[in-house]
Parts: sequence; C-alpha cells; structure tokens
Amino acid sequence: MLQRAFFCSLLLLISHVTVATEHWFDTFKRNASPDEMYRFLYALPKAGDLHNHLSGAGISEWWFELAIDESKNGGYRYYTKVSINNCGYGANQFGFSPYLLLFVNKQESSYLKLNECQRSEYKLLTELTPNEKSAWLESIRLDKQHEGRNEFFETHWQRLNDLSSNPYIIAEIMVKNMQAFGDEGLSYIEFQHGVFNYINPKGDKIAPNEVANIIRSRLAQDDATRTGVVVKMQASILRFMKNAESTMEAAYHFVNDNRDLYVGVNMVGREDNDKGHPKRFLPVLRKLRRKFAMNLAFHAGEVDEPNSHVKDTLLLGAKRIGHGLNLISDPDTLLLMRNSDYLVEVNLVSNYLLEYVDTYAQHPFPEYLRIGIPVALSTDDRGMWDSTMTDEYYIAVSEFNLSWSEIVSIGRNSILHSFADQQLKNILLTNFNAKIASFEKDASNDVGAILRNSQVSTFQFACKKFKICDYVVYK
Ligand SMILES: [Zn+2]
Repeated sequence: MLQRAFFCSLLLLISHVTVATEHWFDTFKRNASPDEMYRFLYALPKAGDLHNHLSGAGISEWWFELAIDESKNGGYRYYTKVSINNCGYGANQFGFSPYLLLFVNKQESSYLKLNECQRSEYKLLTELTPNEKSAWLESIRLDKQHEGRNEFFETHWQRLNDLSSNPYIIAEIMVKNMQAFGDEGLSYIEFQHGVFNYINPKGDKIAPNEVANIIRSRLAQDDATRTGVVVKMQASILRFMKNAESTMEAAYHFVNDNRDLYVGVNMVGREDNDKGHPKRFLPVLRKLRRKFAMNLAFHAGEVDEPNSHVKDTLLLGAKRIGHGLNLISDPDTLLLMRNSDYLVEVNLVSNYLLEYVDTYAQHPFPEYLRIGIPVALSTDDRGMWDSTMTDEYYIAVSEFNLSWSEIVSIGRNSILHSFADQQLKNILLTNFNAKIASFEKDASNDVGAILRNSQVSTFQFACKKFKICDYVVYK
C-alpha cells in the first residue's frame, strides 16, 4: 500500500515536472490560433533569404505602380497587349514571345517597331480600364486553381517582357522588398538576377557594370539603408539556353569585377528542360576554376523524376542547392549531405504552387531538417506567389511542428551559409543572436505582448491559403 502511494506520488511529481518544464514555445504552439501563430511568426527575427529571384519578387501592384511612374522608372513608357486582332495567325506559339498571349508589356521603343495592326492590340498602361488593370495585375500572379508550373514558366516572364529589362524598376522592386522583408524581421537578402539583358528607353543594351552601378546607388539612398536589411546579389544564368556556357563565363567575369555587391553565380530555369542538365556545365566550370574562386548556388532537384541532378550539381562545385526536392530519392547523395556544409534552400510556397508537391506531407523538408542536412527557408518568386517569408515559416511550423531550436537553427543557417564575406557574416550573426535572444526572452515572459505589438502587413497568399485575411495589403 505504502509502495503504491509512493509510486502514485512519484507519477504525479513526474507529470507535474513535465508540465512545468514544457518549453514556452510548445505551450504557445499548442494553444495559439492560426491568427496568433501568424502574428508571432511575423514578429520573429528571421535572418536571411538566400533564394530570391529579384524579377520574381515584385508584387503585381508594385510592377504596375512603377511601370506608370516615369519619375521612378527612368523615363520609360509601357504598353500592354489587351486584344488580339488577328494581325498574325498564331505565329511563334512556342517561342519566347507567342502571339496569342495577352498582357505582354512593351516599352515604347519596342511598341514603335510594331506594324499598325499590331499597335492596335496594345494600350498604354496609364489608359487601362479598371477591368483591364485588374486582369493585368492577375496576369503575373499565380493564384488560380488551373494555374501552375506552365503558367509560371511559360507566361509570367513572357508577359513581364520589357518591364524586367528596366534596371530602375528592378532597383525599386529591390528596395520595396527590403522594406517589406525588413518589417517581417529579415536582415539579409541575396537576390538573383540576370545582368545581361537590360535596355535603355531607346532599346539599346545597358552594360552590366552600369546596371550594377544603378543598383549600388539605389542601395545607398536613405529609404534603402533605413530598412537595416543588407543586400548582396548573385548573377544568374538561364541553364537551357544555347549560349548558357558563354553566359556562365561572362557572369564569372562580371561577378569578379563587382565583388563588393555580387557574391556568387546561380543557374536557374526549369529543370525538366533537359537542355540545361547539370553535367553540361562541368567543362566550362572547370575551365573557369582555373582562373577564379566563385560561390555557386545552383538550382537542382526541382523536378518530379528521381535523377542525379543534386549529386551532379555538387560535382559542379555548388555550395548551396536551390530546392533540392528530389534529393530525397537519391540515398547516397542524401547521406553525403548529412552534417555537411552544403545547404538546401527550401521554398515551401513555390514547391506547392508549382505542383512539385500536392500536399505538404509529400515535402522532404522535415526529413532534411531532422537528419542533419543544413536547410534554410526562402521565398523564390514571392511576387508571383503574393507571399512573404512569414508564410514560409507558418507552413513549416504548422505542417511540421517545428520546435523553437529548429526555428532558430533555420535562421542561423541562412547567415552561416550565405555568401557574405566573413566580416559581414560575423556582424549578421552577432545581430541575429542578439535579436533572437531578446525575442525569446520577451516571448517566454509575455507572448501576449509580442502578439499585440506585431504589426502584420502581408499579401494575398496568407488569406487564400490559411484564411488569414485581416492584414492583407492588396485585396
Ligand atoms: Zn528559384
């Protein structure tokens, strides 16, 4: 009897201790409503976004606002295609500029090259009806059930067209991202962009070094520095193009000449186009390595089929893998990456919208995270998803039950595996450690105060996917 009483009180004591020592974040997670979790994660210090395509990071409304504002966009005027008047008969349907595609944007110099019939299909952006404007905004947003990978890869970039060749608009979109990401607790972004295809209002090429100068001077302005967000850039090359090897060489030289701002080279473009398979680039990269050291973060494994792309991409010398989805189907490479220095840049929103996973239960992120492969969360083309970094964290926490230490490790990885130089990395890491420690102290004392003070401002993805709609900036 005495013995039973002893065991009962021991059990009581153990259960009491368990409750008493439950981590504050687990208690919060257990009790938080979706809205409260979102507010919490918005306020969370999140360190860096290592995988962000600058021309894919523009929210539709930002593109429109900048396209019609000649005082901000470098004096360009834009037209967009609002009708099809049978000026041709579906010519070039599989080229980059298919005729049967609405809301293709042309700057004036390109518009003036059209014949009279073709011009009748276009309207100045400033003259769109409300209906046309709303369709224009939707045309570069991936938010309909029937939209997916093909809509994204084969129409969004083709519609942006001349808009994404304007370095002033690109620089403004960069600053708008710094402001919005700064508000949600980021301190570092590595933007990817192609540096070779910019044109001036007359339609003449702008030299890549001049593009870099436009970005540099925009970064030096007050509204950019006030964000407290540090920006570095990667030069990206489109992997399946015929001239991809020579572009890779040019990108290496360009980055080497602009090391203050550009920290690496990225290889982008849909991987299910076999023309851009990784091993194609082994000879050119080996040749370039005889001249330069270069940080490489390449997209790999963003594909449905199991293949050796991640392994081949490590062979190319990449330190970071963009997406790495099909790494899960390559056990030897998976083992190689455990406790390694190779980070996988995980893009949860992108992978879902581009149909690489139908549900998050199919996503390999928790497997990578919990077997010791370095991972960080990133936003990929957030402008086209209309999403935020908070959305990435929200999915990670709600789908995969992240612990506090896992959340912190993801943020820390985004600095440790960044291509910032060691001095900058040390500063970013010291700041992140201080911010996260202070946030943890406050949250563990009074999480209610964190929620009350969290000034959430978000885009449409959170409303459409999580039904968190109170804070949407553009409805
Ligand atoms: Zn990407």
